[in-house]
Amino acid sequence: MVDIVTFDAADVERYAGILTGAVAAVAGGDLVSAAAALQPIAGEVWMGRLTAAGKVGNREAVAGVRPRNESLRAQVFIRDGFRCTYCGGRAVPRCILVAVHDLFPDAVGYDVHYKRGKIHPVFWALAPEADHVVAHSRGGPNVLGNLTTLHAACNTRKSDLLIDDMPPVGFARAGDDWDGLTSFYPALVAAGAGVTRPAYHREWVRRYARLMT
Ligand SMILES: [Zn+2]
Repeated sequence: MVDIVTFDAADVERYAGILTGAVAAVAGGDLVSAAAALQPIAGEVWMGRLTAAGKVGNREAVAGVRPRNESLRAQVFIRDGFRCTYCGGRAVPRCILVAVHDLFPDAVGYDVHYKRGKIHPVFWALAPEADHVVAHSRGGPNVLGNLTTLHAACNTRKSDLLIDDMPPVGFARAGDDWDGLTSFYPALVAAGAGVTRPAYHREWVRRYARLMT
C-alpha cells in the first residue's frame, strides 16, 4: 500500500493516462497487460484531508442540493467534454472507475463514501460531480444550464468559496476527443466488471450509450 495525501494537476493527467492504457488493454482482451499498466499506481490509498462525509456527502444527504437525475448528471459531463470546468483536467465518470475497481480490486480500492484509508486517490482526482453554478439555496435551478462538471476533489476544495465565484472555463473543446473512457465502458463490463454489480453497470452503460449517440 502507498499512502497518498495530496495530488496536483500533473498527477490528475498522469492518472488519466495510466487508466487509459489499462482500460484500452482490457478492451483488447489483455487483462495481464491491463494489470501491468495499473502497476505504477496499484495499491495507492487516499490518506489526505478531503472527506466526502464532512463536505460533499453531507451536503448531498442533508440538503439534497445535488441533482438526483442520473441522466442529467451524465448530460452535464458529456456537454463539458468530460473535463473539470474548474481545473480543466480530464475526468472519468465514477461508474467507469468502479468498473476498474471491480476488475482489479486490490490495485484500485473503492469506498462508496470516498473514505480515507479505503479508496484509491483516482476517485478523488478523476471522478466528476455535477455541481450547481448558482447554488440551489440561492434559487439556482436543477437544470443543465445551471450545472457544471467538477472533479470530486476540486468540488470539495472549492466548497469554502461561494460557488458564484467559481470561474468555469467553458464547455467541450473543439478537437478534443477525450470521452471520459466511456467508449471502453461496455468492454470493461463484458470483461467481468459486470459480475460484481450487474444492475449498476448495465444502467450506466445504457445511459451513456443512449446519451452519446
Ligand atoms: Zn478539477
